[in-house]
Amino acid sequence: MTVVISDRIIQEVRQRTDIVEFVSGYVSLRKAGRNYVGLCPFHKEKTPSFTVSPEKQIFYCFGCGVGGDVVSFYMKINGASFPEAVRFLAEKCGIAVKESVPERGGGGIKEKLWALNRAAADFFSQALFSPQGEVARKYIENRGITPEVIRQLKLGYAPEEWHWLGEKLKKLGYDLALAEQAGLIIPREKGGYYDRFRGRVIFPIHDEMGRIVAFGGRDLKDGLPKYLNSPETPIYVKGRSLYGLSFARNGIREKGEVVVVEGYFDFLTLWTFGVSNVVATLGTALTEEHVSLIRRYASCAILVFDPDEAGRKALARSLPLFLKQHLEMKVVVLPEGYDPDLFVRRFGRERWEEEMQKARPAVEYYIDEMLHPAQGVQQEREIMAEALRFIKEIPQSAERHLFIRRLAQRLNVDEAILAREVSDTPETAAKRLPQGPRTDLLELKLIYLMLEEERFVKRVAKSNLLEFFPHEDLKKLASLMLERVQKGEGVDRAWFLSQMEGERKRHLFNWMMVMDMSKDEREREFEDTVRRIKEKWYQRASRNLNLQIRQAQERGDEELCRHLLVKKAQLLEEEKAIRKLTVN
Ligand SMILES: [Zn+2]
Repeated sequence: MTVVISDRIIQEVRQRTDIVEFVSGYVSLRKAGRNYVGLCPFHKEKTPSFTVSPEKQIFYCFGCGVGGDVVSFYMKINGASFPEAVRFLAEKCGIAVKESVPERGGGGIKEKLWALNRAAADFFSQALFSPQGEVARKYIENRGITPEVIRQLKLGYAPEEWHWLGEKLKKLGYDLALAEQAGLIIPREKGGYYDRFRGRVIFPIHDEMGRIVAFGGRDLKDGLPKYLNSPETPIYVKGRSLYGLSFARNGIREKGEVVVVEGYFDFLTLWTFGVSNVVATLGTALTEEHVSLIRRYASCAILVFDPDEAGRKALARSLPLFLKQHLEMKVVVLPEGYDPDLFVRRFGRERWEEEMQKARPAVEYYIDEMLHPAQGVQQEREIMAEALRFIKEIPQSAERHLFIRRLAQRLNVDEAILAREVSDTPETAAKRLPQGPRTDLLELKLIYLMLEEERFVKRVAKSNLLEFFPHEDLKKLASLMLERVQKGEGVDRAWFLSQMEGERKRHLFNWMMVMDMSKDEREREFEDTVRRIKEKWYQRASRNLNLQIRQAQERGDEELCRHLLVKKAQLLEEEKAIRKLTVN
C-alpha cells in the first residue's frame, strides 16, 4: 500500500541511521579532516569529490552537485521513491511504520493493478510451460533464449482463445472492470469482454522497482500487429519505462554505462549472452523521461543505431536530450543488416563487447558522419543550415562550444562567425542580458547559518529581518523554517537543501562541508551578515528614491519632491540606527 509517512518517523529514521556507515555499503570512504570522501557513485571520476559529513549527516559531490541526507542517498542509488526509502531505512533500524495512512484520493488503485498484473503474468507463465504453450516455447528457444532467462523475465504465452485470461482472473475473484482498466481485456459493444492478447508470446514489462506495469505480446503466426502492447494505464505511461531496467540496474551501475537497444529480443538475447548493462526502449523514440531514468544509474549511454536515414534521424533527435541533461552519449552503428539480437547470436559476446569499446562520442559522430563532406557551395549551405538548427537546440555548455569548434573545422569556416550565428536567437540574447554580481549570496549565507544553529533561526524569528530579503523565494523558504522552529519541530535541513538548485545549492553545501567556524566566529558572521543584508536594502531603497526625486524634479512636481525628500531623510535616520544595532 502506498502510504504517507509521518514526519516523526522520517525524523527518527534520519536520527537513527548513520550516514557514513550506510554510504560505506556502497562507496569506499576514507576520512579526510572532519569529513569522509570517496569516489562518487553518481558520476565517473578518478579523484574523490564525493563527501560525507558525519556531523551534519549529509553527503555532497563537489563534482556533479548531487547531495542530501541518507534518505535522498538511498533514493538516488536505488532509484527508489521517498516512501520506499523511508520504509526500507525504518525497517533497517527497527522502527515500525504502522501509523501510516492510505494515500489521499488514490485509493490504492496502483497497488490493485500491480497485483492484478502479477496474477496475469503467473497465468501466462503457466501457459507457456504447459503443453498448450509448446509452440510459443519452441519459438522463444529457437531464438536462443535460455529457460533461466525465460523464467527470470517471466515470459509467458497467451493461448489463442477469446476468454481464457478473463475467465481465469474471474475465478481468482478479480473484478473484470479492473482487468479492463489494466488493458488486459476489452469490453464488447453488446456487453462482456474478450482478451486483448491472444496467440501471442507475452513479455511482462517491469518498472525499475520490478513491478509489472504492462505487457507486450508478439504474434506467433505473422498476424498483425506483430507486436501488441498494453494501453496506457494509471501505472503505465508509454515512453517512461525501459524494458529490463529492474534486472540490469546493478550491472549498469557497476559499469557506469548503459547500452540502449530497441526490441524485446535485442534485450533478451544480450541478457542471455551475459551482457548485464542493457535496456530496451521498445520501439518508441527515446524520450526525456527515458534519459532522466538512465541518468539515475549511469553517466554514459551507448545507443545502437541503424546506418540508414531513420537511424540518422533518431540520432539527431536523441542527442539534444542527452546534452540537455549533461549525460554522455555514445554511438554504435552495427554492420548493415544486423540488429543487436542477430549480431550477438552470429558473432558472440566478445565481438559485441569489441563493438561497444569502439563506441564514439555522439557529438563527434554526428559531425563527422552525418554532415557529409560538402560538394559545392549550395550543399555546404544546406549542411550549415541543418547544423545550425541542431546546435541551437543544444543548451549553452561545453558541449556546445565543442560542437561549434568541430563544425567550424569541418566546414572550414571561422569559429567566431559560427558562434555568432547560433547565439542570435531571442532566447539566448535574453540570457546574455547583463546580470550584474550575484545578489542572493547574503541571504544564502544567513540561511546557511540558520541551518547550522537553531538559535539563529529563533533570533531571526524575533526580528523583522525577512522583510529585508530581496528574493521572494528565499524569503518564503526562510519563513517556513521559522514556522517549523516556532512549532518546536526543529530545522528540517534535508528538506531545505532539497529545495535548492544550481549555484545556490552549491554554495550551501560548500559552506556546510567546508566551513569550520567556532561558535564565536559564527556569532560574528551572523551579526555581520544581518547588518549587510539591511545595508543592502537601504542602498537599494535610497537609489530608488533618488531616481524618483530626479524624475519629480524633471517634471517640476515640487510637492512630490518635498514629500520624497522627507522620506529620504527618514530613511537615512533609520539606516544610521541599524548600523549601531544588531539582532538580539
Ligand atoms: Zn558526483
